[in-house]
Amino acid sequence: MNQNGSISIDAQNIMPVIKRWLYSDKDIFIREMVSNGCDAITKYKLAKGGAEGEDLRVTVTVDAEAGELRFTDNGIGMTAEEVEKYINQVAFSGAEEFLKNYQGGEKDGIIGHFGLGFYSAFMVADKVTIDTLSFQENAKPVIWESEDGMSFAMRDGGRTQRGTTITLHIMEDEKEFLDGVRVREVLDRYCGYMSVPIYLEDLALIRKKEAAPKDEQPKENGAEKAPEEQPEEEKPINDTHPLWLKAPRECTDEEYKETYRRLFHTYEDPLFWVHLNVDYPFNLKGILYFPRIRRDFGANDGEIKLFNRQVFVADNIKEVIPEFLMLLKGVIDCPDLPLNVSRSFLQNDGYVKRLSQHITKKVADKLNALFNTERKTYEGYWNDIAPFVKYGCIRDEKFYEMVKNVILLHTVKDEYLTVDEYRSRNEGKAEKKIFYTTEPQRQAAAVALYTERGIDVAVMDTLIDMNFMSFMEYGGGQEGLSFARVDADVSGLRQEGAEADPAIDEAALQDEFRLALDMKDLTVKAEALSDTSLPVVLVEDEQVRRYKEMSAAYGEKFTFPSRYTLVVNRLSPTIRKLSKMEAGDRKTLLEKQLYDIARLSSRPLEAEDLKTFIARSNELVDLLTGEDAE
Ligand code: ADP
Ligand code: MG
Repeated sequence: MNQNGSISIDAQNIMPVIKRWLYSDKDIFIREMVSNGCDAITKYKLAKGGAEGEDLRVTVTVDAEAGELRFTDNGIGMTAEEVEKYINQVAFSGAEEFLKNYQGGEKDGIIGHFGLGFYSAFMVADKVTIDTLSFQENAKPVIWESEDGMSFAMRDGGRTQRGTTITLHIMEDEKEFLDGVRVREVLDRYCGYMSVPIYLEDLALIRKKEAAPKDEQPKENGAEKAPEEQPEEEKPINDTHPLWLKAPRECTDEEYKETYRRLFHTYEDPLFWVHLNVDYPFNLKGILYFPRIRRDFGANDGEIKLFNRQVFVADNIKEVIPEFLMLLKGVIDCPDLPLNVSRSFLQNDGYVKRLSQHITKKVADKLNALFNTERKTYEGYWNDIAPFVKYGCIRDEKFYEMVKNVILLHTVKDEYLTVDEYRSRNEGKAEKKIFYTTEPQRQAAAVALYTERGIDVAVMDTLIDMNFMSFMEYGGGQEGLSFARVDADVSGLRQEGAEADPAIDEAALQDEFRLALDMKDLTVKAEALSDTSLPVVLVEDEQVRRYKEMSAAYGEKFTFPSRYTLVVNRLSPTIRKLSKMEAGDRKTLLEKQLYDIARLSSRPLEAEDLKTFIARSNELVDLLTGEDAE
């Protein structure tokens, strides 16, 4: 046989585009060649009705000397008719679809360039040869060759072993694919979990070994025998039975961790995981891992690897995985996903929506289950998973509904309380508020005002917490819930129904403090605070403070004026005495000192203010000693 021809008419249009546009992710051609080999072996097994004991494999041979990359399988092979039919005529079925979407002008292109198939070889090769022998009895070997993917030549081959070898003569510009290390890396990424054993054979290494004289090889000292001395081709590069395809009850914790470490090239262990294993109404397999999350939310990049029947497609497909789950790591294997379409198509696909809802529900179920059965363990995870859960609530109302009872407040006493627990424990003490601190150290004095009264104070110290609190107040549907920082409010310190001293005149005190402190805008309020040893507290309205912080965080130029309120305690003997004192230097001194003490309870005094405070304190000490001596 000797036949020349041109490949189906579409090739004339498609090949130039494939070559011109696919400058990124070129390495997917390796996945396409290897997966075709795996498919050929699967087909062979099907045709034979099983192949017990046969050594079925795909071998990738790097032959730098010849400038070739070869993909050999002992699968079903092709007859000349099949080459004609599957290579010359319909090989573009996938590519055509691909092109249609690619030309739609979408920047993202097609997910993992899926379905490009055999012709992707021409992205890197200036000559591709198929050398094949069908498994059918009396089949004749055939060779197919093409330099540009547009015209081909076919002739009889000489192959005697069933199967196919595809040889790519690599272009001058693409020499990286003749480097064994680079090829291994690509294989690891795309083919690490394919269903047929894949072997890598680097001829450069093998030739080097053969060239070395026998007696130069180390033999006495066993320790010197480096692992690379072992024949490389003897271990497949892939794991043909990925854990996510197994039934969850058959998997051990150690196996889950091992898969995690292998998938993400890390030595770290995940906190816990969710094994997705659904056959109906859609086929979805996978494992989602909760990694340890660093406190600075935002710097955490999750990684979800999308597979299609054990073939790696792409990382971080936002369109399939709910956005907030992107903080997780893991793998999703979903054979039914239409991958040969554009990303925006996936985004609007009903199937994908159901898939993503299912994943969300599974994750919520896991959190609830942990909370209900292993509360202590769950609490131990909380600080790591909190950013993820909170972000998830803000992004997805449905997720919030599912996890709202397992959201924890971490208190300054290192306890973990649900919102309901917080409310019932602080019933009557804290009205309907949840008190919190953004900086337990700096705000220690203000925190103590609450904790000493048996009121729990939650730690809300991340950026996501600010957003989460607003969400809970306005969007979360929690009846009348509000958050107040320890220096925002005195409602938790108030004594209800207390007899107030009528002698204390709020307006008069305000005038005096304004004068003493030279602060015209200062607001002074008299309140009955239950702790009589506490004369004054300085508060700043929660909403005003948050607004200020938000605009600062977003870099707005205009800065809001601070609006502090000095709360004086009607029940404090000190305040009672103060309000009866004659105006004068002594009173001014006391008022200044009280104001500083109030400031000190929410944050440390800075430089100048601290100096003044210390000087005045010394003055007061001096006054006292003077009194005693008299
Ligand atoms: P797909 O794999 O999606 O069918 P490809 O373009 O990758 O598309 O391959 C086209 C066809 O060529 C395959 O369906 C198969 O029939 C044939 N083919 C490619 N590689 C091999 C191989 N190694 N062994 C047998 N047949 C092959
Ligand atoms: Mg294919």
